[in-house]
Amino acid sequence: MEFIHDDFLLHSKMARRLYHGYAANEPILDYHSHLPAMEIASDRTFRNLFESWLEGDHYKWRAMRANGIAEKYCTGDASPYEKYLAWARTVPFTLRNPLYHWTHLELKRYFGIDDLLNEGVAKSVWDRASAVLQSDGFSAQGILQKFAVRVVCTSDDPCDDLSHHQAIASTQRGFCVYPTFRPDSALAIQLPEAFRAWLGRLEKASNKNVDSLREFLDALKQRHEFFHAHGARLSDHGLSYCYAAPCTEREAGAIFDKARAGLPVADAEQEKFGSFMMLFFGHLDAAKGWTKQLHLGVLRNVNTRKYREIGPNTGFDTIGDWSHVNALCSYLDRLDQENALPKMIVYNSNPADNYAFATAIGSFQDGALAGKIQLGSGWWFLDQKEGIEWQLNALSNTGLLSRFVGMLTDSRSFMSFPRHEYFRRILCNLIGREAENGELPSDERLLGEFVRNLCFENARQYLGLALPNG
Ligand SMILES: [Zn+2]
Repeated sequence: MEFIHDDFLLHSKMARRLYHGYAANEPILDYHSHLPAMEIASDRTFRNLFESWLEGDHYKWRAMRANGIAEKYCTGDASPYEKYLAWARTVPFTLRNPLYHWTHLELKRYFGIDDLLNEGVAKSVWDRASAVLQSDGFSAQGILQKFAVRVVCTSDDPCDDLSHHQAIASTQRGFCVYPTFRPDSALAIQLPEAFRAWLGRLEKASNKNVDSLREFLDALKQRHEFFHAHGARLSDHGLSYCYAAPCTEREAGAIFDKARAGLPVADAEQEKFGSFMMLFFGHLDAAKGWTKQLHLGVLRNVNTRKYREIGPNTGFDTIGDWSHVNALCSYLDRLDQENALPKMIVYNSNPADNYAFATAIGSFQDGALAGKIQLGSGWWFLDQKEGIEWQLNALSNTGLLSRFVGMLTDSRSFMSFPRHEYFRRILCNLIGREAENGELPSDERLLGEFVRNLCFENARQYLGLALPNG
C-alpha cells in the first residue's frame, strides 16, 4: 500500500467515517498565513519544486543542517537543483519528524506522486513535479481553487498600501484575500534607526506628520481604518511575551520622543511603551469588532554567528521559557476592565504552558460570544501531530473544543494547504478513537457535526470575514 493512502492517520472505523463523511470536503478558511499578496495578485507560476517548495523554508533548512548538509545547499549559492537534491538526500533521515509526513502528503496532493523521496528517485520526482507545475491550474490562484480555499488572510505592515489586495478583490475568483494588521514595527523602538525609517513610511502611508505620540496614534488608527475598508477583520502581534507594565500616556509620549530622536531606549522603557501600545491596539480592535491574534513565546535569532552570516528567519529560533501567564492575564484583564477586550486568539509556543494558557483564556470568556477568547492551534514547533493533540487536549479539558476556530497554515508557501488535511485527520483520529473506546458516544451525526464545525464553520462565524459571493 502507498504511504499516503485514503486512511492515512485514521486508525478506527469511526475516525474514517468522520474524516471522509464530514471533514474531507469542507472548504478552507486560512485565517493566518504569510503568503505574499503580490504573488496571488500576479498569479505567480512556479517552474520547479525548488521555487514552489524549498524557497524560504526554514523547517527544511534546520533538518538539512542537522543532517550535516552545508549552508551552501540551504541558504547559500548552490543551484536550485543542487539544493533540492540535498533536501531529497535528507528526507529519509527525517523519519518521525513532521517533515516526513508533510513532504509526502504534499507530493501526493499536488502531483499525485507516491514515491518515498530520496536521492535515487529525486530526479524523476523533480521532472514529474515540474511538468505538473507548468500545467494549467498550478499557478498561485489555481492552487487556491484546487484546495477549495475560500479565504486567505495575509500578514501585513500597517504602512502597506494594499494595492495587491485591491487588485485581487477586483477579480472575483471564488476566494477572498484579506490583509491582517500586523504592527510589530510600531513597537520596535529598541532599534531607533529602523524605527525612524518606519515612521517615515507611516507618515507617507497616512499622509500625516508624526511628530508626537498623539500623531503616531492617529496615524495608526487611520491605517487600521484603511485595513478595515479593505476587508481586514484580524490583527496580529508577534511578541516574546505579553507586555503588561503600567505606563501612562505621558510616559509613553516621552519614550516615543526619545526613540523618534534616534536615542537608545532602555529595555524597561521598551516594555512600558509596548504595554501602552498593546492597550491602544486592543481598543482599536474592540471598537471595530476585530479579532486580535497574539503569537507568544518564541526566542529568536539565538545563534549569533549564523545571524551575522545569513540574517533573521533562517531557522535559528527556539521555544522560549518566559513566564507568561501573569502578564497575559494582566493584559486581558486591563482591556476587559476598560470594556475594550476584543475577540482574541492566543497562540502558545511552549507545550509546558498549554494548560496555563488554556485556563488563562478561559477566565475571560464572558457569555456575549461563544469562544470569544481562543487558544490558538498548535503553532511553529507545535504544528505537528503530537503538538496538535496536546493543544486539542488542553482546550478540551479546560474549555470547549466544540467552539474552537481550527487550523491555519501560517505559511509562506503555496504548498502548505495540506496542513489543513493533516489537522483534520488528526482531529478525526482523536475523536474516532474515543468513540470506539466508549469515552464519547458512537453517535456519528453528533460527532460529525462537531468535527465539521472545527474545519470551517466555527472560523466563518467567529471571524466575520466576508466570503466570496456573499
Ligand atoms: Zn505567522
